[in-house]
Amino acid sequence: MIEEEAEPEPRENAKIIGVTGGIGSGKSTVSKFIEEAGFPVYYSDVRAKTIVNDDAELQEKIKKLLGENAYDENGFYNRRYVGEIIFKDEQLRLQLNALIHPAVKIHFKNWVAEQTSEFVFKETALLFELKLNESCFKSLLITADDNARLKRVMDRDQKTYREVEAIMDKQMAEKEKIKYADFVIYNNAGLDELKRETEKVLANLKVIS
Ligand code: ADP
Repeated sequence: MIEEEAEPEPRENAKIIGVTGGIGSGKSTVSKFIEEAGFPVYYSDVRAKTIVNDDAELQEKIKKLLGENAYDENGFYNRRYVGEIIFKDEQLRLQLNALIHPAVKIHFKNWVAEQTSEFVFKETALLFELKLNESCFKSLLITADDNARLKRVMDRDQKTYREVEAIMDKQMAEKEKIKYADFVIYNNAGLDELKRETEKVLANLKVIS
């Protein structure tokens, strides 16, 4: 008789590592390295963009808040329209976020419950701003000099210096984030170095657990 290999059981107690950094810091690149090393990564910011189309209950709440025009004639979220109205109304922007963030939180919780790895990673730009680090086992901050970040985002997103600077100005200052982070990767050299630094953090995590 051939013995079947047992399926690994999902864990309810996975250790969550928050991965964060300002725009252009390199957090998505680090997250890819973490995935390559065999760990699951949840991309919160990507999920926040797709959940507005996938979650029917959330859709209804958004329509109630912003009107039917928040969705186009094909039923898809009208990002441009919503962007314009929340740009002019800070209160509305906060109310919209107060709908989206809890929906992502529930989705993340369900995702964690399906994972079998001892460590799971959660990439989000707003880890410290939303105090999400409080529900993490450890936090990892990726940071880099402003000039490096500016240049990388201008290249990546075809944005002007001023446009990137405006986004950076709205984010929590890097030196503030460093105070909260358990691990910090300084991403001022090349990609090979960034990969080595990521692997060092992963090795440390295994040691301290
Ligand atoms: P974030 O997700 O924090 O906004 P990314 O990981 O997308 O940042 O990095 C921004 C851009 O800079 C990407 O195009 C990425 O390939 C590039 N990049 C990141 N780190 C480095 C590095 N050390 N050397 C060269 N390019 C880098």
